[in-house]
Amino acid sequence: MKTVSESFGSMVFDDRIMKATLSADVYASLKKTIDEGVALDIRVANAVAGAMKDWAVSKGATHFTHWFQPLTGITAEKHDSFISPSPDGGVIMEFSGKELIKGEPDASSFPSGGLRATFEARGYTAWDPTSYAFIKGKTLCIPTAFCSYGGHALDKKTPLLRSMEALNKQALRILRLFGNTTAKCVRSSVGPEQEYFLISKEMYDARPDLRFTGRTLFGAKPPKGQEMDDHYFGAIKPRVAAFMEDLNEELWKLGIMAKTEHNEVAPAQHELAPIYTTTNVATDHNQLTMEIMQKVAQKHGLVCLLHEKPFAGVNGSGKHNNWSIATDEGQNLLSPGETPYENAQFLLFLCAVIKAVDDYQDLLRISVATAGNDHRLGANEAPPAVISMFLGDELSAVLEAIENDAPYKGAEKTQMKLGVDVLPKFNRDTTDRNRTSPFAFTGNKFEFRMLGSSNSIACANIMLNAAVAESLKSYADRLECAADFETALHEMIKKTIKDHKRIIFNGNGYDDAWIKEATEVRGLLNYRTTADCMPHLLDKKNVDMLTSHKVFSVEELHSRCEIMLENYCKTVNIEANTMVDMAKTQIAPAVEAFSADIAKNAQAKRALDSQIACTYETGLVRKLSDLTDAIAVKVDELQSALISLHDAEDIIAESAMIRDCVLPKMCELRVVCDEAETLTAKSYWPFPTYADILFSVR
Ligand code: ADP
Ligand code: MG
Repeated sequence: MKTVSESFGSMVFDDRIMKATLSADVYASLKKTIDEGVALDIRVANAVAGAMKDWAVSKGATHFTHWFQPLTGITAEKHDSFISPSPDGGVIMEFSGKELIKGEPDASSFPSGGLRATFEARGYTAWDPTSYAFIKGKTLCIPTAFCSYGGHALDKKTPLLRSMEALNKQALRILRLFGNTTAKCVRSSVGPEQEYFLISKEMYDARPDLRFTGRTLFGAKPPKGQEMDDHYFGAIKPRVAAFMEDLNEELWKLGIMAKTEHNEVAPAQHELAPIYTTTNVATDHNQLTMEIMQKVAQKHGLVCLLHEKPFAGVNGSGKHNNWSIATDEGQNLLSPGETPYENAQFLLFLCAVIKAVDDYQDLLRISVATAGNDHRLGANEAPPAVISMFLGDELSAVLEAIENDAPYKGAEKTQMKLGVDVLPKFNRDTTDRNRTSPFAFTGNKFEFRMLGSSNSIACANIMLNAAVAESLKSYADRLECAADFETALHEMIKKTIKDHKRIIFNGNGYDDAWIKEATEVRGLLNYRTTADCMPHLLDKKNVDMLTSHKVFSVEELHSRCEIMLENYCKTVNIEANTMVDMAKTQIAPAVEAFSADIAKNAQAKRALDSQIACTYETGLVRKLSDLTDAIAVKVDELQSALISLHDAEDIIAESAMIRDCVLPKMCELRVVCDEAETLTAKSYWPFPTYADILFSVR
């Protein structure tokens, strides 16, 4: 049995392996590519490919694939074997630099939002050397970006890498102004905390809604839910513990540092947090984590649900995106420093984030928008759909003092002239407790809490990096030509606080009074659904910002808006059709069968004794009959709503109809079906109930 430190990263072509298997000069060139983005020449690529193949073959790999993240939301792979014919009639295992650097998968089945004419089916994948190759099963997986032949991004990684580059460029300008001449690059890092449900496979298989849509579309409230708060951080059940142990082992082999795991608030809900790493690597790792969670669950006779809202009335699942920015020398730019000068720099970076979140509330909302996540945001469990920031009382008081040129009372010394006085040490414990804020400062990083559990974290980080790059750019433009740096700095920080303090809110984000204040007094945005927010991706200010930092082209933005709305419409369409099907072919017949048997009982009783009133039977049969009538009506109405979608002029109109006509009809159908469930004998009910599913894993 291998120890954890022996098996950790054993399936990753990481720095240790590169050092050991590459010649010194090849290693040095590759390092330059990884660390500084210097272009790779083909000789180096050939040498790396050879070493990678030998290593992979020694681990039992027979195939390789470019591994990429198209806009479907999952990862894609196309396996090729290493086998090449040799002159003597046998085979040799081959892998060239060219195959490492570039692949040409058929792109025609991936969503492109009109970017690629259908006759131009080809796309290409390009190696991302900053994310290590790894072995999954018998396949060497090479993390890549995915583009159309016209050069447009068809994936999530390409814009993510571009956004990291934009942030790097602008942050370095600021660091130079503060006299830092040694940092070579600035990168954002992320540690995503992942929530999920584990249920038994038997239950899953018996529910068409779970199988087709990942969530339950029907289900009356169970007698016991999460109200006892007895699951959160509770003892982990043996079957779940075995799953987690296996999962950790698989993740560790891939170099994914799964660190903490615990039960979450809802029954059957759990969380896994990795140790943070560079954003693009964290994104790859999170995609892999979700995939491996599902695979390992299968092995244990379980199913891992990553849907944002698998069960109504029970907490949904999210993902907390812990985000910070740091130099290659290890300085966290969101950490208050030791010296006054470092503190001034920290405050400037802090202000850059405040300005970014306020100016681009809409982009952050858009970055987490899916049909699934719409069920969570604003439902008293996840942060509301309104974006605000939590800074904690201490930091807020510091900012207030700066804004008003007033002394700050919290520290020993009264101080506030930036660059002269020392900031107080912020106690992490005082900043970490607000669980209701969408965007919370937690001492040396921000926790963006609106992401849905199945979201790729790429989208949120693209917007975050780009928006912060934009703030930093505006600061650098101003400071680089300031006559007196310190005065200009002070004024700029003051101005940011004045202009953007409306986004700071330290209170309870779940409170209705806050939503009223946020929207009516502060003028913050409240886009409740994907249909509401997504079209704003194309607002001029957003297009200008994202294109000016070369994160997206105009065409790419149009295509993404289209694809996201298409996803929304398709998802709800599938759900609605599944509901119609289940209501017609499972629920209504079950209720009918039950009520027929009750009616028969009444008849039988009366045959024995005509004086028996049978009030129970008569009342129940009447109620059930009313309910089956109502189900039939609601099914018809939902079907008509679906048919009316054909009249939609475009995808924006269709998504609005989904929001206004289809989703409400789905709710209405659910209400009558759930009521029927509470009146129908369990033995007649056609699929497992909430109580069966939520308490199925021991
Ligand atoms: P908690 O949320 O309970 O306070 P931590 O703050 O320790 O727990 O960690 C939560 C997540 O944040 C982990 O994935 C962790 O690796 C990540 N994290 C910690 N520090 C940073 C940082 N500087 N940048 C990005 N992520 C971080
Ligand atoms: Mg946390």
